Amino acid sequence: MFWERDIETMPRKELNRLQVSRLKKTLKQAGHSPAYGKIFKAHRITPEKIKTLDDLKRLPFTTKEDLRKHFPYGFVTVPKEKIVRVHSSSGTTGRATAVFHTLKDLEGWADLVARCMFMSGVRRGDVFQNMVGYGLFTGGLGFQYGAERLGALTIPSGSGNSKRQITLMGDFGTTVIHIIPSYALHLWKVFEEMGLDPKGDTQLRIALIGAEPHSDATRQRIEEMYGVEAFNSYGLSEMNGPGVAFECPEKSGMHFWEDHFIVEVIDPKTLKPLPEGEEGELVFTTLRREAMPLIRYRSKDLAAIFPEPCRCGRIHRRISRIKGRSDDMFILKGVNIFPLQIDTVLMTLAEVGTNYQVVLERENFEDKMIVQVEVRPEFFKGDLRQLERLRRQITESLKSEILVTPKVELVEPDTLPRSEGKAVRVIDRREM
Ligand code: ADP
Ligand code: ZN
Repeated sequence: MFWERDIETMPRKELNRLQVSRLKKTLKQAGHSPAYGKIFKAHRITPEKIKTLDDLKRLPFTTKEDLRKHFPYGFVTVPKEKIVRVHSSSGTTGRATAVFHTLKDLEGWADLVARCMFMSGVRRGDVFQNMVGYGLFTGGLGFQYGAERLGALTIPSGSGNSKRQITLMGDFGTTVIHIIPSYALHLWKVFEEMGLDPKGDTQLRIALIGAEPHSDATRQRIEEMYGVEAFNSYGLSEMNGPGVAFECPEKSGMHFWEDHFIVEVIDPKTLKPLPEGEEGELVFTTLRREAMPLIRYRSKDLAAIFPEPCRCGRIHRRISRIKGRSDDMFILKGVNIFPLQIDTVLMTLAEVGTNYQVVLERENFEDKMIVQVEVRPEFFKGDLRQLERLRRQITESLKSEILVTPKVELVEPDTLPRSEGKAVRVIDRREM
């Protein structure tokens, strides 16, 4: 049931004690980096003063801007001879950041990923196909080392090359995949084109999906399309990458590993801590990192911490599905909208295909939202009135969720742009 029973079911009090002792060590370690050396001095912080977890709240935040300011080596605490790898964020929102690892860091990370995979049911004997980018992106090597640690046969197939992915699945009898959800939707269509059905023609049983915001409706679609159990996987390169938070078989929230990270939720505007259960920005403090510990790192990702214990028996708390980054939100006619809301509506409708895109435009000082939706090909063959009915239905469903009326355009499959990595869902042309 558990990869590391002692740690996963450790009583809360003991876990808190462990956190405090690791936090003290982390602060001491962090002080060795030029960046934190300066920050600690300016704020008169001495690690010895930290006695409880509450004391952490008096320390300043670390932001992506701080990482950029001290790029590349400013947050590194060890001599270069001890660093063995660098990873980088995908650069989804601006210049990428660099994160460095010692061998011990990489081992700790692999342990975490193995713990997550085991929790979702992956075992020795499974054939695991890792269908995301290898290289600076953390999803490739992060899962590779985690899966090897667990003992699964691992196929490092990388991203793209859909037909080959499908062939590999057949050749080696893949049972578990790691895949970006938007790509999973696309790949299903390639199966169809090849005259195959992932349900009957593969041995797949588990899909680990993450790296981008997606709704529960998308997860359910992937489960139905592939005949698998799909588990939400959350991570960010600044906190290693994958392995930060992961769903257990209860599939109600993602456990975050409190022996490796302290997680806080703050109001992104006031920066004040929010009570458990309220949604806000996730803030992370590493507890085991050697080369590049980070203190109160503001992730910009929005979620809530569930206070209730999980039925699976793990003590480590859970976060809700990530709503997106605070800067994913856009404002249209005074209404705040998250792309995830659109995902939820569209992916619930069976007529909707596997891709969509949101375009924001400004015309005569008026903002417009155009939602382009790929729909099943049969709608373009028959009665055009059927297509128009569907268009109206989608418009209504979107309106009742986001409270503004978008202009909906229905298009044929494979006509919208697609990315091999994280999907780009919103194109904002209003400032151009
Ligand atoms: P970048 O920040 O440039 O995209 P990363 O590769 O480090 O680079 O991506 C981490 C980010 O991806 C997270 O901060 C989060 O916004 C998003 N992300 C990762 N996993 C998930 C997930 N399961 N659900 C929603 N968003 C996710
Ligand atoms: Zn659980």
